[in-house]
Amino acid sequence: MRSGFSRSGQILLIGAGPGDVELLTLKAVRALGRADVVLLDDLVNPAVLQFARSDARVIRVGKRGGCRSTPQDFIERLMLRYARAGRTVARVKGGDPFVFGRGAEELQRAREAGIPCEVISGITAGIAAPAALGIPVTHRGLCEGVTFLTGHTQDGRAPDWPALVGGGTTLVIYMGMANLAHIVRSLIDAGMSPDMQAAVVQNATSAKQRQVVCTLGELEMAVAAAGLRSPAIVVIGEVVRLAASSASRSSWVEAA
Ligand code: SAH
Repeated sequence: MRSGFSRSGQILLIGAGPGDVELLTLKAVRALGRADVVLLDDLVNPAVLQFARSDARVIRVGKRGGCRSTPQDFIERLMLRYARAGRTVARVKGGDPFVFGRGAEELQRAREAGIPCEVISGITAGIAAPAALGIPVTHRGLCEGVTFLTGHTQDGRAPDWPALVGGGTTLVIYMGMANLAHIVRSLIDAGMSPDMQAAVVQNATSAKQRQVVCTLGELEMAVAAAGLRSPAIVVIGEVVRLAASSASRSSWVEAA
């Protein structure tokens, strides 16, 4: 494929949703079936590969777990290399590629290289994880909206906690587990009631899903008692009251 006379390559930036393979979009399924090369992030359920061609080259580009990370720059160069060689490259990412997924950087890189790149939205964990417990991220009368934030900022900059508390939105925190104690303390110091409702959902929508539902003040202890870890979504707000009763407070007490 080095001749340069072959069909031109392209990149498909695919959101694979939160875990349950049935939460893939039809567009994602079809795109996977077109790919010559699949670059798979490690948060993605490998079962999505059932929709890839049997002759597709699959490369896992994990960035978490105990394994050594695959640097972002290396992933991007790999993606460009295959596309330049005329391949259709499916870059498959967890959730939505544009929500804390570095999809924007990859799109930018493709644009700079003059390679066509299609973005295929996915269902983000920040909506699907609360929904898995019956929690809507917005609800008329309970909040003004929803704020998605990361608990792990690149440069260590702190969010404006008082603004977050005063805003009256549901807070949905990605990558919040490592800093959970700090997040809880910052919210309470900024004026949020320790009685505010909170939930943590690990491996949402997968067979390994686990969760706790409690108050903000109890959150750290409940998470520790249940042994919850990343990948997990933290949801804080009045909407958590709407959690299905099977996910209610008593379940984590029992789990502990
Ligand atoms: N682009 C992804 C987010 C990537 S950041 C999306 O739109 O969902 C990685 C973080 O997403 C994890 O640390 C965790 O906070 C969250 N996450 C992803 N999948 C998850 C799942 N199945 N359950 C709970 N949290 C998840």
